[in-house]
Amino acid sequence: MRIALVAHDRKKDDMVALATEFAPLLRQHTLMATGTTGGRLQNEVGLTVERLLSGPLGGDLQIGARLSVGEVDAVIFLRDPMTAQPHEPDINALVRACDVHNVPCATNVATARVLLDSLGR
Ligand code: PGA
Repeated sequence: MRIALVAHDRKKDDMVALATEFAPLLRQHTLMATGTTGGRLQNEVGLTVERLLSGPLGGDLQIGARLSVGEVDAVIFLRDPMTAQPHEPDINALVRACDVHNVPCATNVATARVLLDSLGR
């Protein structure tokens, strides 16, 4: 599957921990991520990740565009619900695109675990 990974700044440590836990599973899939998230996944977890633009510079929109043409099968999007984001419209656009195209979108660690567990079966 093609999995997109995005984490807001205060959720990046959670993303690294999650990806470390699921690294053997994630290695079996094609990964893409927003710029900074992808860099941490490469450097700290050792995953092969296609790095797109940073989220605030359009990375969320890139993922949404790919998803809309059938090129993304699942999204793990660890949003920070406690911090205002300058690219809020882009965030909403990505989540909306997931709903429009019926693509699974995990927006917190608990849901991400359920999603990743389901891929491992
Ligand atoms: P980043 O983008 O991985 O480049 O930080 C994520 C975001 O803030 O949407």
